[in-house]
Parts: sequence; structure tokens; C-alpha cells
Amino acid sequence: MSQKIHVTDTILRDAHQSLLATRMRTEDMLPICDKLDRVGYWSLEVWGGATFDACVRFLKEDPWERLRQLKAALPNTRLQMLLRGQNLLGYRHYSDDVVEAFVAKAAANGIDVFRIFDAMNDVRNLETAIRAVKKSGKHAQGTIAYTTSPVHTTDAFVAQGKAMAALGVDSIAIKDMAGLLTPYATAELVKALKAEIKLPVFIHSHDTAGVASMCQLKAIESGAEHIDTAISSLAWGTSHPGTESMVAALRGTPYDTGLDLELLQEIGVYFYAVRKKYHQFESEFTGVDTRVQVNQVPGGMISNLANQLKEQGALNRINEVFAEIPKVRADLGYPPLVTPTSQIVGTQAVFNVLAGERYKTITNEVKLYLQGRYGLAPGQINAELRKQAIGSEEVIDVRPADLLKPELERLRAEVGALAASEEDVLTYAMFPDIGRKFLEERAAGTLTPEALLPIPEAGGVAPVGGEGVPTEFVIDVHGESYRVDITGVGVKGNGKRHFYLSIDGMPEEVVFEALNDYVGGAGGSQRKSASAPGDVSTSMPGNIVEVLVKVGDPVKAGQAVLISEAMKMETEVQAPIAGTVKAVHVAKGDRVNPGEVLVEIEG
Ligand code: MN
Repeated sequence: MSQKIHVTDTILRDAHQSLLATRMRTEDMLPICDKLDRVGYWSLEVWGGATFDACVRFLKEDPWERLRQLKAALPNTRLQMLLRGQNLLGYRHYSDDVVEAFVAKAAANGIDVFRIFDAMNDVRNLETAIRAVKKSGKHAQGTIAYTTSPVHTTDAFVAQGKAMAALGVDSIAIKDMAGLLTPYATAELVKALKAEIKLPVFIHSHDTAGVASMCQLKAIESGAEHIDTAISSLAWGTSHPGTESMVAALRGTPYDTGLDLELLQEIGVYFYAVRKKYHQFESEFTGVDTRVQVNQVPGGMISNLANQLKEQGALNRINEVFAEIPKVRADLGYPPLVTPTSQIVGTQAVFNVLAGERYKTITNEVKLYLQGRYGLAPGQINAELRKQAIGSEEVIDVRPADLLKPELERLRAEVGALAASEEDVLTYAMFPDIGRKFLEERAAGTLTPEALLPIPEAGGVAPVGGEGVPTEFVIDVHGESYRVDITGVGVKGNGKRHFYLSIDGMPEEVVFEALNDYVGGAGGSQRKSASAPGDVSTSMPGNIVEVLVKVGDPVKAGQAVLISEAMKMETEVQAPIAGTVKAVHVAKGDRVNPGEVLVEIEG
């Protein structure tokens, strides 16, 4: 068999999302676009995933403007994006009119290929986006989010592929976001897909466990025509196989990519220098991490969990959490672990371990999941858990977005004159809080991107403080000792200041609100510690999303009085006793710590 292999380079999206926390700026992309455009890639992945969020939240760049600039600089190459189905680039289900408007604008501003996935692999959540892409005349790619579980058989994946083919997709992608694929499993899956579906197959596999290039080779030998790679200076590890490596491996064979290795190497040298600029965002794991092949927990999820546990002074319990994750996942019917299901499962597992009792606290997202609000679970849901979590509340079996009324008009009215274009309305739709803030700052001319540290001399760290100023500390929190190194200080801007620390070797970033020239401590909470039976407190540090009671209100024991949010998960905080609300010490938006009295109830 002879088949030229087509290459999609992820250098402008997933490579820096995986290795540099999505921080690459447009100014570091544009100078190399002329060379990238001459390579002859099948496509360049440039947009979507976390890039939109990072642009608005950290880089203070208009993501739509980035797309237009890249389109102008890359006139001969297809531009590709990653789209989370009905979630688009946000974290909830949007109504169909928003999905249609978003896809139409993405196409009009330059996207040629839409890779569309759903965290549950529920094809109903892909329908509207696929239809909208076809209407725009662009390439719609249906995606299988690869995972392993008793219900994720080759037959089940082929059935999903057929369902997507029936919706008119132009190709199928196998998206191995966690690096779970192994070479022979890849061969079996690709052969089965190619036998049943006459569409091109793309392999997107992260090299976290060090086996992705072998998976790609087996995929190619089994009939896949497309591979996702990354220019070598931002490849491997949690990123993708190196472009130059794969091109070299296939050169002179029937699978030759036809790409110019010398030109690719010039591009590699360019990104080698760019990577240094973002050194503060490098993870401590820059090589191979095989743990995913043992505990099935994706790398990105491990660092999230470690942070959650560290906030609790409970990092020593991470192995219990690893043991709990498969149990929660089984209870929820084996969702793949990808945004947002990785956070839903991971946070619930942390709650189950720290509370010393499984499902004593159930996050709101798990409740919504159990109601069917994210779509159909791949396997059977634990019926007892569902009953405990949602009681007699309705479980939906329709496509979740069928229950959503059109909302574009409402969003347009809400953002009002701040939006200079339909694209701005969609930015606000994706991120109501940070999107509005971005538009306000842009209007006021005060957009300030987060600071970058100076590039360190030959492997060192950026200097902090003067001679004799201590930058290393050992601190004690809840009986656990941590070694804290202050590695850098950002410039002051907007009354905020960024500090870069490493805690036990893990990089951290802290933003302090500056009061004149005095830099105050984090939070600065003056709340007293909970001690009375009617004192309401949280078990996790977080932010208050909603205060549900006011002074004088009668409450029942177990009634939700607050909604708090930690690590993007919302939880109800319940009244420990029945009585009357005597005092409320928090307001929406407040940062709270475990053990503080937030509401007082008199029994
Ligand atoms: Mn990826």
C-alpha cells in the first residue's frame, strides 16, 4: 500500500498549550509564518482549545484579531481549530443560535478545518456544530475522544465513527488527549474504522508516556492518512511527536510526507528561542511521564489534583485520590477524562477522599451530570448515587441543548455598546466575566498583558531581590513543610502584581492586589474560625459564587446557603443545623478559606 502522509502541525496551538500553558503570543507567531506557509502542511492548528481563554484572560489579545492576522500571514495553508462541540470554547452548553453564530464567524475570520469533539463522545452534542460548519462550506472533522474502560470497545468507537459519518463529517480524528493509546491498540482501532468508514483518519496523540510516535507509525501502516505533530523544539513529552522526526522517519518510503526537512529545521531553531521566553510556564515534567499508563489519569489532571491537595495541606493523600478516580468514573458511567469531565471527576474524587466519606459533599457539576445535562454517559450510571445526589429531580434523556432557548439576543443586549462587533458578543458569550473585563479594558485603553520574566542566563533563574535578600523559605502549613523559592516578580500594573514562586519544585503564580506601594498578603481575611454548631464554613478554599440567604431567613438543616467555587467546580455549602440566619460574613466574589465562619445560624 502506498499513501502519502499528510501532516498537521500543532505548533501554534496544542504544542504551546501542552508545554507552555497556552501562553505563546501572536507577536511570536507572525515572524515565522512566511516559512510555515511554505512547508506544505495539510493544515496548521492555530486556534481553539484553551487559546481563546488564554488570549482574553492572560495575554490581553483579541483572539479574533489573532485569527485574522494568522490568516493573512498564512494564505496558502489550511487553518484548523479545536472546538468543544456544543460547549464551543467555553465551559457550558450553549444554545444552537450561539453555536451557529460562532462557527459562522470562525469560518469568516479564517478557520478552514473544524475538529469537533464532545467530552462524553455524545454525538448529539456535535450535531449543530457539524451542520454549521457544512453550511459555511468548511471541513468538518468528527472526533473520537479516546479513552479506555469496559465500555470503550473498538466496536463502540466504530459505532461513534459511523454516527458522525452519517452527519456528513469530512474526516474522523482519533484524539488521544491523555497519551493512553498504545501501538497495537491504535492499529486495531484504525483498521476497524477504515474497514467500516470511507473517510480519512487523523491521529492526534500526546507523547506523555513516550509511545505516540509508535502509535502513529502503526496507525499509518493500518491506513490512517493524517498525523498531528509539533515542530521539535516544542514537541514530545505532553506535546506531540516532533514534525522533523516523523518526516525523517517516513522519508523515502511509500508514506513519504514530501515535506522539506531543512526548512522545518530552520523553523525548529526559531521556536527553540521562543520557548526560552516562556520558561516560567514550563512544567517540571518536561520529559516522559508514564504514570498515565498505570493510573489512567491524564498529566494535566495530575497537576490540577496536586494543586487542589496542596491547598488543603493534603498532598500526601494523592495516591488515595488516584485510587478513588476510577471508582468515581465508574459511578458516572466511564466518561472520557477531558475538559470538562476531567475536572468533574477529579474534584469529586478529592472531596470523597478529604471528607473521609464518599459523596458526603457532591459538587453541583456532578449533580448536573447525573441529571443528564452534559449528555448521555457512555456506560451505566450508579443508580443509588443518582438518587442520593438529585433525589426526585428530573433526569433528561434529550440532547441537553434542546432545552435551551435561543440566547444570542440576550447576550447581545447584556454586553451592549461594549461590543464593537458580533465577534465581541461571542467573546463575551464564551467568558461572561473575563470577556466583559477584556472589552471594558480595551475600551478604556488599559489592557495590560501579564508580565514575562527575563530570559535566564544559561539555565539559571531570573535574579530576584538584591544581595542578602532572602528568596528561599521553608514554611509550615497544617503540619506540612513546604520549600518556597521566589523565582520572579512581575511588573506592577493595574494595581496588581504577579509573583512567581516554586513550591517544592512546582511552579506557582500569585497575584497580589497592590495598595499604593504596599503589597498586601493574599486574601487578608479577617473572619473568625468556625466553632459553634451553627457556623457555616467550606472544606475547600475558593470563591463565593452566590449567597442564597440573608439575615433573618429561616433555614432547614442541609439547606444550601452559599455556592462556592474551587478549581472551576461549584459546590453548595449547606446549613449544618436548622434555625435562623444571624449573620452573613461573605458576599458574592469573596475569596474564602477552609474553617472560616461564613454564615452564622442560630438554632
Ligand atoms: Mn491535544
